[in-house]
Amino acid sequence: MKIIAGNWKMNGSRAALSEMVSALQVVETDNKVILCVPYTMLCIDSGRVALGAQDVSVHEKGAYTGEVSATMIAETGAKYVIVGHSERRQYHEETNSIVRQKAATALSAGLTPIICVGENMDEKQAGKTMAVIEAGVRESVPSDISGDIIIAYEPRWAIGAGLTPTEAEIAEAHKLIADTLDSMGLSGTPVLYGASVKAANAADIMSIPNVGGVLVGGASLKPDDFIPIITSVK
Ligand code: PEP
Repeated sequence: MKIIAGNWKMNGSRAALSEMVSALQVVETDNKVILCVPYTMLCIDSGRVALGAQDVSVHEKGAYTGEVSATMIAETGAKYVIVGHSERRQYHEETNSIVRQKAATALSAGLTPIICVGENMDEKQAGKTMAVIEAGVRESVPSDISGDIIIAYEPRWAIGAGLTPTEAEIAEAHKLIADTLDSMGLSGTPVLYGASVKAANAADIMSIPNVGGVLVGGASLKPDDFIPIITSVK
C-alpha cells in the first residue's frame, strides 16, 4: 500500500473537488489517497478520500487574524495537514523550528502532519543536500510523538519545474531519512517523494526502496492526471 497525496496549493474550487472526489470513488486501488486542499474546500463530503489542509497556525486560538488552528482543521473532518512545504519555507520564512511547532500542534489535535523537508538549488550546488535533509528531519519532527506522522522529501529546486533528481539521488535521500527516523525511534514512518511526479514517472519512483508514496502538486488537480498516478502501483 502506498500513500498518494495531492497538494492543490491555491488552486481549484469546491466544484472541482466534488468532481475529483466522484471520479476517485470508482477507482480500484488499495493505496491511501489524500487531498490537501485550501481551507475553504475542507468541509465537503469526500467519501473514502481523506482530506488535509496545507498549513496550520502554531497557536491554539486567540488574536491571530487570518490564521486557522489545528483544532479548527480537525473539526472539518480533515485528517492531515502539510507542514513546512517549501513554498511556506520560501515565502513565509518558516524554519525547521516553526515547522516542528506546527507538527506538534497538528498532532495534539489528532491530525497527521505531512512534514516536508528538502534542499533548495543553492544548497544542492553547495553539496549540502544530505545535511539539509537530515537537519530537516531532526529539527522539524517533534520529540514526543503521540500519533502518526508522514515525512515528504521534496527537493525544492524540482518542485513545479518538471525536474526530478535521478533515481539514485532519490534512493540516497530516502535511505538517509529512513536511517534518521530509525535513530529517532520512528522506524516505519512513511516517507513520500514529491516534486514533478506524474503518471509517466510515478511507478518508477514508488519502486525505489524507502519510498512510501508520493506527494503530487500540479498533476493532482485533474482526475485524468491524478488517477493514473494512483493506479500506477498496486
Ligand atoms: C508540491 O508542491 O508539493 C509538488 C510536489 O509540486 P509538483 O508536483 O507540481 O512539482
